Amino acid sequence: MKKYIAFISATIIVLGVMLYSTKNEYIFKIFGTSSVEENSEKQEKDSKDSNKEGGVLKNISGIFNKYVKDDSEDKGESPSAEIEEENDNNSEDKYKYSQGILLVNRKNKLDKDFIPKELVVPKVKFKSSADPLVKKMEKEAAEALERMFNAAREEGITLLGVSGYRSYKIQESVYNNKVKKSGKSYADKYVAQPGTSEHQSGLSMDMVSTEHTALDTAFENTKAFKWLDANAHKYGFILRYPKGKEKVTGYNYEPWHYRYVGVNASEEIKNYGITLEEYMEN
Ligand SMILES: [Zn+2]
Repeated sequence: MKKYIAFISATIIVLGVMLYSTKNEYIFKIFGTSSVEENSEKQEKDSKDSNKEGGVLKNISGIFNKYVKDDSEDKGESPSAEIEEENDNNSEDKYKYSQGILLVNRKNKLDKDFIPKELVVPKVKFKSSADPLVKKMEKEAAEALERMFNAAREEGITLLGVSGYRSYKIQESVYNNKVKKSGKSYADKYVAQPGTSEHQSGLSMDMVSTEHTALDTAFENTKAFKWLDANAHKYGFILRYPKGKEKVTGYNYEPWHYRYVGVNASEEIKNYGITLEEYMEN
C-alpha cells in the first residue's frame, strides 16, 4: 500500500513538473516574441526561423499592437468630439443669450449636460457651513467676486460666500428629496426644478456677511447689503431677484443672491433699476 501511494505521488510530481515547464516555455515564447518586435530585428528573425508558433504569436501580437494603436487614436479623437458636443450644448442657439449674457429662469432652463467651461473655487471667505461641492464659479465670475469681496473688506465689511455653482445632479437630488419629504406641490413652490437654477450657470453666488450669516431677507438690514447695493455693479454683479420684481423674475426677493453679468450690463441694469429679464428684452 505504501509503495502504491509513493508511486502515485511520484507520478503527480513528475506530471506537475512537466506541465510547469511546458507553460513556462509558452510564456517565454510570448514574451520573446513581443520583445522581438520592439527591440531587435535579429531576434525577430531567430524567432521566425525557430518555429511557426512564434510566427503566429507574432501576428497576434501585431494585431494586438494595431488594436492598441487604433484604440489610442480613438481616445485622441473622442475628447475633442465631447468638447464639440459640450460647446454645442452651451451654444447660443440652445439657450437664451442676449449680448453674450445667459438668461436662466423658470422658462429658460439649462440641460442636465450644461456645465460651465472653467469652474474654480473663488479665493474668498466662505461661511463655515458652506458645502464644498457648491463653492465653485465660472473663472471670470470668480475673479470678479474676489475683487468685490476684497474691496468690501477694505471698508470693514466681511462678505461670506455661501453657494455658487450647483450642478444639475445636485439640483435634482435636492428637488427629489423635497418631493419625498413634503410632496410635489410643496417642492414645486419652494425648490427650483432641476435646470431652472441660475446657480447651474456658475455665474451666481449666494452671499452673507459676518454680521448676518443666515440666508434670509433680514440680510437687507445689514451694512454688507447696503455696501453691495451701492457697489456690486462696479464688479459686474447684480442683485438678481429684487423686491417688487417677483412677477418679472419668477422668484421671491433674495437679498443674498448675486449674478455676474459683466460690468457693462451691470451698470445699465443698476442705472435703470431693471431686472436681467427686462434688460435682455430691450
Ligand atoms: Zn441663489
